[in-house]
Amino acid sequence: MPELATEPRRRFLPLAALPRTYASRLLVVGDAAGLVKPTTGGGIYYSLVSATLAAETLGPALASDRLDAEALSVYQQRWRQRLGPEFQAQLALRMLAQRMSNAEIDSLFDLALTDGVMPIVRRTAQFNRHRNLIVALFKHAPSRRVLFRRLMQ
Ligand SMILES: Cc1cc2nc3c(=O)[nH]c(=O)nc-3n(C[C@H](O)[C@H](O)[C@H](O)COP(=O)(O)OP(=O)(O)OC[C@H]3O[C@@H](n4cnc5c(N)ncnc54)[C@H](O)[C@@H]3O)c2cc1C
Repeated sequence: MPELATEPRRRFLPLAALPRTYASRLLVVGDAAGLVKPTTGGGIYYSLVSATLAAETLGPALASDRLDAEALSVYQQRWRQRLGPEFQAQLALRMLAQRMSNAEIDSLFDLALTDGVMPIVRRTAQFNRHRNLIVALFKHAPSRRVLFRRLMQ
């Protein structure tokens, strides 16, 4: 009888993009390229977006038989243009959140109940795009105070 595994299976979640996602005859998409939401680690949407952009790059490249790195670099320009500001904002929030204590994270939730955060969430929150919400929270003085408290100490 086969032995039962005693350890749970583990998978790594990438949280930042590779500095370079193209080479001669190569494009890297989705998790392999680190194209996931830094806020949640979710990567289904960005893998679909990057695969679409890769296909849009490969179509003309194959037609003209230009699969060298320079021709394929357009792919990286495209995903950076489409997703770059999202990654920057999400990574900024993640870096702040990672420094926060449990009590500070609790105080953010308390704030959401008491101090006008829910209207901001209703106005700006989107499932696959978090930048508008993050920017709005950074502009909201009470949220900013909690988020940046650690950096001010
Ligand atoms: C537990 C868990 C929960 C998650 N929940 C969510 C969620 O709720 N929302 C969300 O958006 N994302 C979630 N994710 C992340 C999401 O699953 C990934 O971001 C997404 O699947 C990435 O898609 P991908 O096509 O880039 O990679 P993958 O889905 O990993 O696909 C890569 C494929 O390549 C195959 N492969 C690997 N090596 C080779 C090889 N050498 N030769 C041939 N094939 C190979 C693999 O078997 C796999 O089928 C979760 C991830 C985990 C681990």
